[in-house]
Amino acid sequence: MNRFAVFGNPIEHSLSPMIHNEFSKELGIELSYEKILSPIAEFALTANEFIEGGGKGFNITLPFKVEAFNFSEELTSNASAAGAVNTIKVENKVIIGENTDGSGLVNDLEKNLNESIAGKEILIIGAGGATQGILKPLLDKNPEKILLANRTPEKSVKLATEFLKYGKVCGFGLNQIKAKPVDIVINATSASIDGTMPDLPGGLCEGALCYDLMYGMQSQFMKWSFENSARQVSDGLGMLVEQAALSFNFWHKKSPRTDSVINLIREKDDL
Ligand code: NDP
Repeated sequence: MNRFAVFGNPIEHSLSPMIHNEFSKELGIELSYEKILSPIAEFALTANEFIEGGGKGFNITLPFKVEAFNFSEELTSNASAAGAVNTIKVENKVIIGENTDGSGLVNDLEKNLNESIAGKEILIIGAGGATQGILKPLLDKNPEKILLANRTPEKSVKLATEFLKYGKVCGFGLNQIKAKPVDIVINATSASIDGTMPDLPGGLCEGALCYDLMYGMQSQFMKWSFENSARQVSDGLGMLVEQAALSFNFWHKKSPRTDSVINLIREKDDL
């Protein structure tokens, strides 16, 4: 049976095995998919052991996405732009790195939330690893522009400069965000994990789609968006399942259905 896995530290919480098992049941592809806890300093060693043991591919989650980028021998264009890898496949003994996070978000917006990106003004808050992964796939969809705000402005300015070659993107500090409404607000900070949110002007999200990359609970940002007249509010569960479907396709060349798996997790975990 072909072996797949997800590597992370911690990894216990990962929904990836359940998601990939659902996809494989639907498409009749036999596989095993494990959670592998890699010691922080030993990602390459753990990954090599898995490959030597017959592993055909694996996902990579925090904190190893940049190490997986360096570990890859070939990169897809999304992985190369993101500087991070969340999916690896071993093909003819070559280790190929891909990043499906950004296209997963785009698919969730377009397919599941019926939101077109072309011509829209998008504000992304946060300039960490997740933002690096989503910028190119969003810019590839021709938004009017992307505004990139971060607590540490140097990071958003640097990222915006790097991604200007893919489309219109402008970086600045959190305190420079205007109260003027935009079409889509994406919370790509890790503040939701601590149950907090950045200080944002309320007018910003009036009539907007507000999207928190975090999933698993209703975040402060989601509550704030409802209270400030957002048109639609979403967590990042759809992105998680969509990125998994793209990884599945990268390995097996088949596209699973995602709506049933999203619904299954929402029902099971009451999300
Ligand atoms: P990083 O640690 O790389 O970046 C964190 C970012 O959040 C930085 O820009 C940081 O600002 C900012 N930040 C943290 N706390 C605060 C705060 N209190 N106020 C303002 N800004 C803050 O994290 P990632 O980019 O990897 O992850 C971000 C989020 O995306 C997480 O919630 C993660 O779970 C989620 N995610 C979801 C995925 C999905 O499939 N749904 C996939 C990948 C990520 P500064 O630079 O100033 O420190």
